[in-house]
Amino acid sequence: MSNKRESKVRRVLIIGGGFAGLETARKLSGDSRFSVTLVDRTNHHLFQPLLYQVATASLAAPDIARSIRQILAKAENVTVLMDDIETIDPDGKVATGASGTRYEWDYLLLAAGARTSFFGNPQWEQHTLGLKSLADAQSVRRTILTNLERAERTTDLEERKKLMTVAIVGGGPTGVELAGALAALVRHSMKDEFRHLETSDLRVILIEDAKFVLSTFDNDQSEYARQRLESLGAEVRTGHRVSDVSEQRLEFTDGTSLEAAAIIWAAGVEAHPLTRQLGVPLADAAGRITPELDLSLPGKPDIFVAGDLVRMTDREGVAVPGVAPAAVQMGDHVADVLKEEARLEGTRFADTKVSLRPKFRYFDKGMMAIIGKNVAVVKAGRMKLRGFPAWVAWLLVHILFLIGFRNKLAVLLGWAFSYIKNEPEARIIVHPPADRAAG
Ligand SMILES: Cc1cc2nc3c(=O)[nH]c(=O)nc-3n(C[C@H](O)[C@H](O)[C@H](O)COP(=O)(O)OP(=O)(O)OC[C@H]3O[C@@H](n4cnc5c(N)ncnc54)[C@H](O)[C@@H]3O)c2cc1C
Repeated sequence: MSNKRESKVRRVLIIGGGFAGLETARKLSGDSRFSVTLVDRTNHHLFQPLLYQVATASLAAPDIARSIRQILAKAENVTVLMDDIETIDPDGKVATGASGTRYEWDYLLLAAGARTSFFGNPQWEQHTLGLKSLADAQSVRRTILTNLERAERTTDLEERKKLMTVAIVGGGPTGVELAGALAALVRHSMKDEFRHLETSDLRVILIEDAKFVLSTFDNDQSEYARQRLESLGAEVRTGHRVSDVSEQRLEFTDGTSLEAAAIIWAAGVEAHPLTRQLGVPLADAAGRITPELDLSLPGKPDIFVAGDLVRMTDREGVAVPGVAPAAVQMGDHVADVLKEEARLEGTRFADTKVSLRPKFRYFDKGMMAIIGKNVAVVKAGRMKLRGFPAWVAWLLVHILFLIGFRNKLAVLLGWAFSYIKNEPEARIIVHPPADRAAG
């Protein structure tokens, strides 16, 4: 129950409506002690774990994204605004968007996530396709399908070979999932659809610097993933480090090179550059921030960080990974801290409130990666699954998510049906306006 000392309304600014920011907004919704403004540069919350399915034509873009405004429609104390935050003044307690709008706060949560990292070679970006946003996923799909159309048309066999080569750099879950799904889509699902090319000639080459793909899993699971990818027709090159990227060409440190009409970069991420404006030292070269255990910045108790831009160990000393459940849990924790702070305000504890704040604990729900139809790997604590049981677990987790997210049983059943039948539906090529003449 609120009393007089709690009657002050605290302005909370949340930058980013991803997993972390949205969770904080949800938890504060309906709490009249807070006036929340959530600013995102897009108008939608995106379920990134299924981006590869948009890229490989199994899902349409709206199936994995939902309007943030719609999600928070009933949260009367939350205002949702679309703007790209460009500057943060931590001492003046104000952020400014590309629109010129100034957003003042009593508390700030920076939850702007991560972006693709090219390890100090920003020029590589123009020659590669990323997989961080809906636009990226649509661009991957458009490129692959358009290259196949060109390959069907051309009589130049060398050209056809290049058009039918897809290089994926980065053997983490994103690269593995994409390689498996692409090989399955083209080599198997589309096999009867062309007259001049053999879809089995498509080369999907997964390139990883480390000794194993899926290096955060145990070695036997990584090896299993490699074997299953190879049985789907993908090539896996581990211990291969990219030294240069140019137009449709990769160079490697061992002096070899590879020509590919599509190069997908899934090799690394770095924190959103806004972390550099918070006035605290960065924790690593990826620009991440290490907060206090309550998730506030050292010496700045009114500024919090959460999600992929954080590098930390929790109160038990467990390293917190850059995954969606960790971001949700951090978002949840920030809301708890703010509520507790509001409760204590004006009491004799107020002066020591920062040290009294609850400390973050990460609950590890495990990890999973899908390799192809009926095949996945799951690691949760001591439990390890692979093959069909892991795939069923993956499917259940994602169906449960989609039920909550889409709330449209018919769409969900349609997806599940075409997914189980292995008949991806979303294969239409849509060119962006500037690109209409291409193809
Ligand atoms: C292809 C892919 C597959 C993945 N698969 C999995 C998986 O299977 N399982 C798993 O657990 N995790 C997975 N992840 C990781 C997971 O998606 C992230 O850990 C999670 O999204 C982090 O949440 P976040 O809130 O920190 O950032 P995000 O969810 O990325 O949200 C950041 C938000 O900030 C907004 N934003 C950015 N800059 C600005 C700005 N300047 N102004 C305003 N708004 C801004 C963005 O639009 C976005 O909405 C995957 C990630 C990718 C890219």
